[in-house]
Parts: sequence; C-alpha cells; structure tokens
Amino acid sequence: MHKSGHCQCGKIQYQVTGDPKWTALCHCESCRRACSAPIVAWMGFAPKDVEWSGERTFYKSSGIATRGFCNNCGTQMSFESTRWPGEIHLYAISLDDPQNYEPQLHCHYAERVDWLNTVDALPKQDGSAEID
Ligand SMILES: [Zn+2]
Ligand SMILES: [Zn+2]
Repeated sequence: MHKSGHCQCGKIQYQVTGDPKWTALCHCESCRRACSAPIVAWMGFAPKDVEWSGERTFYKSSGIATRGFCNNCGTQMSFESTRWPGEIHLYAISLDDPQNYEPQLHCHYAERVDWLNTVDALPKQDGSAEID
C-alpha cells in the first residue's frame, strides 16, 4: 500500500510504503501539548518505509523523544524515541486522506482529559501502544 501525507502548508511531504506496524489514539500529556489537541492519532512505521521531502525541524520533547515539525506552518510531523529505535511514528491526520486510517486501540488512556468521551469499542489501555 502506498500513502502520502503533508503538513498544513505543504513544505513537508512524505510517502510511506507498506501498512503501519500499529495504529493508536494517544491520550498522553506530551502528545496533547505538542498538538494542542485532546487526542492524537498515530501510526508506526519502519524508518526505511518513510520517504520525506522537505526538512523537518526537531524538538526534544523528553529525554528519549524527538518530535519533528514544519518550521513554516508548525504542523507536527513525526515522533522518534530511543525506546522504539526501529520505528518512526507519524500523525494519521497528516495523511492526504486520513479517512482510510483505522485506529486499533487507545493508549495512555489514564491520562485523558475527562470531558472527552470516546464512543468507540476499541481497547483502552493505560500504557503505551505496545501490546504485551
Ligand atoms: Zn508546513
Ligand atoms: Zn502520546
């Protein structure tokens, strides 16, 4: 499968080959603050399966995590962590067509803002998106 995505202004674009290794809706505070959003839709890929055009700017959002974004429009584009060295996480809503995205679960659910009620039947776990 071939998918592409872009930031709000279009300076940064990407293409991915293959399906995501996993998908998840994250409620953690770090994701929420990075995006000023109550919930963030993720998809994890092998770095070799993502081809970028345009230069991302990077911000270290924790001791182990680096978030890439567009320094022109501010759109968050990527997340990489030493905790998951074989992965790059992309924001599903940056896809050209995010309608085809299918989240598998909610992660860091315990950190959620309590006024957001999700009505889906997906599993809700308090840890990361890893399935133990
Ligand atoms: Zn941009
Ligand atoms: Zn998160």
